[in-house]
Amino acid sequence: EGRFVEQIHPGDHRLHWTESDQRDVLGTPYRYVRPDGAIVWLRDHVVQEHNDRRPIVRGVTIDVTTTRSQEIQLVQHQEIVQRMAATTLVLAPGPMADQRIVHVVDSIHLGVAGSEGRTFSEVFPDLAQDGEVMTAIANPAGVERIGPVRLIDAVERFVELEVFPISDDGTAVLISDVTDRELAERTIRRQAHYDDLTGLPNRVTFMELLGRRSQSGEPTAVLLIDLNRFKEVNDTLGHLSGDAFLRALGSRMQQLATKWQCSVARLGGDEFAFVLPFGDRSEVVALTEAVLAECREPVEILGSGVASGASIGVALSPDDALTPEALLRCADLAMYEAKTNRRGVRWFDPTLDRRSDDIDTLRRLPAAMSDGELVMYFQPAVSLRSGRVTGCEALVRWQHPTRGLLTPVAFLDLIGVAGLSNQLTSIAIEQATAAMVALGPDIVVSLNLNAHELRSPDLIAQFGRAIERHGVNPRKLLVEITEEHLLDPTGVVAATMHELAALGVWIAVDDFGTGYSSLTHLRSLPLSHLKIDRQFVTGVIEEEHDAVIVRAVTDLAHNLGLRVTAEGVETAEIAAELARIGCDYGQGYLWSQPVPLDELLTSELFAKRTAISG
Ligand code: C2E
Ligand code: CA
Ligand code: CA
Repeated sequence: EGRFVEQIHPGDHRLHWTESDQRDVLGTPYRYVRPDGAIVWLRDHVVQEHNDRRPIVRGVTIDVTTTRSQEIQLVQHQEIVQRMAATTLVLAPGPMADQRIVHVVDSIHLGVAGSEGRTFSEVFPDLAQDGEVMTAIANPAGVERIGPVRLIDAVERFVELEVFPISDDGTAVLISDVTDRELAERTIRRQAHYDDLTGLPNRVTFMELLGRRSQSGEPTAVLLIDLNRFKEVNDTLGHLSGDAFLRALGSRMQQLATKWQCSVARLGGDEFAFVLPFGDRSEVVALTEAVLAECREPVEILGSGVASGASIGVALSPDDALTPEALLRCADLAMYEAKTNRRGVRWFDPTLDRRSDDIDTLRRLPAAMSDGELVMYFQPAVSLRSGRVTGCEALVRWQHPTRGLLTPVAFLDLIGVAGLSNQLTSIAIEQATAAMVALGPDIVVSLNLNAHELRSPDLIAQFGRAIERHGVNPRKLLVEITEEHLLDPTGVVAATMHELAALGVWIAVDDFGTGYSSLTHLRSLPLSHLKIDRQFVTGVIEEEHDAVIVRAVTDLAHNLGLRVTAEGVETAEIAAELARIGCDYGQGYLWSQPVPLDELLTSELFAKRTAISG
């Protein structure tokens, strides 16, 4: 090699192959001064490989001065060439279809060894189909890289060709096998454009498609679909079931897209989107109805039917927005509006822009819940006889990073809408039972459960685990259920209540007086406490009607063996009146607002609590 390098023409030293990162390098032709003084043109084809320590360089130097010397070089270096990952052909000059192979080294086993004398087209019928290949072979302009080209072999095989002139009248063809690389790249390309789970186009592809349509200015409708209860499916049946569920819905969506001759994509999570030419409003309406129907149709999972329902937002281009991003945002706003109002479908209109606060809230909720932004505040309940703290109610707050402390009115409904009720239950149970430890064994801690939460199949187990983990007495735990939720015709809520009672947990009917239940109707339920709604408590002094209700309810409740709490007590006069009527406990701003646990623990009110209370 040392001597060889010295013989390279001084003007071409730079061109001679040196270190390179590329695995496969075809060098630029360079001049070489032969011992006899003659100058010949050479070019190197070098393949670098790495064994575990150092790179191995293999190569062939091709004399490109004449066909003859080229052939000789190839033959001389046959051994090296054979170890290269390329099948090498030398073609004699001739018209395109008739170029004969004068030399073959079949290193990648294409089954063409010994095909000297036959034409290229005979030997490679697959490649002969490819115009680019044939043109290059007939008249290569320098080094031409072609491919990957697919070979119809027994197995799928992809090759790459390098074609270059070896003299004025001959052509060299290096064929390398790039199957592994090509298949890997195809997978990557697919993954970049398609969703793995459903096989539908993904968000990238969808946005591209939308971009093309909006550029052309054609009227376009976008349907954004979000499944309503997917999170519950995932949480209660597990991720594998969740995946199966999405796959099933994905294929239903694809069928609809085929029928409507439009495109559907999975944008991520449980979000799908259709894009279709917009001509006729009724056609889009029909599609939204078909989508809703498919989403309501149960999917068979683990032997039972699971249905989720969906919310759809519709936006139009160019009416609502022009760019793909803006269009998708309009559809998104409409979809969240549909979801919040449980309307199924909502078409975008400009008033929705103003409601984006709620929508941002909804969007942030999942992260907020897992980031611990939802915390329980505690409001003490006081014995109206002794004036001492006997219990406290856990009330959820959202410590929002920009909007400050939010009360449940701002987000409680949205939790249900977003399908995050189970997570709220976990937070409430965890923080309430942890608080019981801090508050000591005499304080009753209550927490609120809504209809969603009461239907969670995991609820009882969650209570059981928390009680055990914190080592608390279930007799000091109270679950508050609003009157409207108690009246559940399916019986699921009643069954849950009996299970809770069996654990030893007390149950209160909350907001009593706002629903339509009669107390005697509630007799069959395992209730221990009743909370009279604030609206009656507030008027107990001034409104005769309210006073009558409070008195009647208290007496009846006592007759049924229930303890009575008055909510929303704001003045000492009201507290005194309630005590006179015979209410057992009071809760309200008179004593304390809901506060963080630490604040309650260090409050004066809490310091005065009695050890003998119930
Ligand atoms: P609720 O169970 O009837 O809770 C009592 C509500 O009245 C609380 O509002 C409390 O802050 C408020 N309040 C207490 N004393 C007074 C008073 O003297 N005057 C007035 N004006 N209001 C008073 P908050 O915390 O906003 O909770 C509202 C509702 O949200 C609750 O009504 C309950 O139904 C629900 N909620 C709160 N936390 C949770 C929770 O963790 N899970 C569930 N499922 N629901 C919750
Ligand atoms: Ca309550
Ligand atoms: Ca209440």
